[in-house]
Amino acid sequence: MTDFLQYYRGLEVLESNAVFNGWRDTLPALIQQALHPNRDRRLPGWHQVLQELPKPAQIKTDLNTAAVRIESLEKYSGEQHDRLTELLFTWKPWRKGPFDICDIYIDSEWRSDLKWDRLSDAIEPLQGRRVLDVGCGNGYHCWRMAGAGAEVVLGIDPVLQYLMQYFAVQHFIAANNVFVLPFTLEALPAGLQCFDTVFSMGVLYHRRQPLEHLLQLQRCLKPDGELVLETLIIESDDQSVLVPPGRYAQMKNVHYLPSCAALEHWLANAGFKNIRLIDINITTPEEQRATTWSGDVSLIDFLDPQNTALTIEGHPAPRRAIYLANAQG
Ligand code: SAH
Repeated sequence: MTDFLQYYRGLEVLESNAVFNGWRDTLPALIQQALHPNRDRRLPGWHQVLQELPKPAQIKTDLNTAAVRIESLEKYSGEQHDRLTELLFTWKPWRKGPFDICDIYIDSEWRSDLKWDRLSDAIEPLQGRRVLDVGCGNGYHCWRMAGAGAEVVLGIDPVLQYLMQYFAVQHFIAANNVFVLPFTLEALPAGLQCFDTVFSMGVLYHRRQPLEHLLQLQRCLKPDGELVLETLIIESDDQSVLVPPGRYAQMKNVHYLPSCAALEHWLANAGFKNIRLIDINITTPEEQRATTWSGDVSLIDFLDPQNTALTIEGHPAPRRAIYLANAQG
């Protein structure tokens, strides 16, 4: 059987870390189960590609920069460079990034660094904190969180293709404090209450039960811990919520887009205190666009060509809010 556990350097760190108390003993089995070839027929092939990645003798990393950077101190030949590019292309689309891996610039669909820049100065500094990133995709922001000094970062995301992108980056960085696990928030042990900061970015509108999502986030936080919530909103002074009848910007699984007033009410209802809005931003085609590392279509194709303030379905175009809030003391 393909052993994906080998890509979790320091799994014992993970198991013995107090953060993962709820998982002690069961975690390796849960990972094996999530990555069983029956779950996705592409897994054995992906494993082969991971095995083929070059192992540079010495690397330098910079996690504190827009393109998460891995520099190999031995320079690659043109041929090696092309082969590595080809291997990394296996996991297209790269939605989140950018990354710079051994001089290969992974120009992802999203400039995820722009979201990071909107919040990194406003949040409680991450130095020494234990952080959970719910819906972390390939872990781009997890690396940035580690770069900001977090003691340990756990990202969770159920999409295995994104997990492979994390494994590819982790193959080079070999960090023992940044983990991406193939789980949903709902699958975490109940009542972990062990994280200093919990991020949920770009996830809430995908949830059919948004209040339940907020309650689950609350239960992961230590008393007084900080929630960083980023989600799509609509512009309105009232407590209104858009429930798109069909697709929203071509996405099938967008369920609720609240106004700020409604979202603040949800947060308070889920027991959060000290709720504050730190940013509102309209997503532009500069931030989300088609690249050679993603696919052929992106935001611009999902907006009304006559009026980019609307999606092609006629809804208000994507507008996102970032909220901070604290868990109960
Ligand atoms: N947080 C990143 C990625 C957002 S995309 C960012 O802000 O850039 C949303 C991600 O949430 C997807 O990768 C999707 O797989 C994941 N996701 C959806 N439902 C989830 C759930 N219930 N638990 C954890 N992750 C989830």
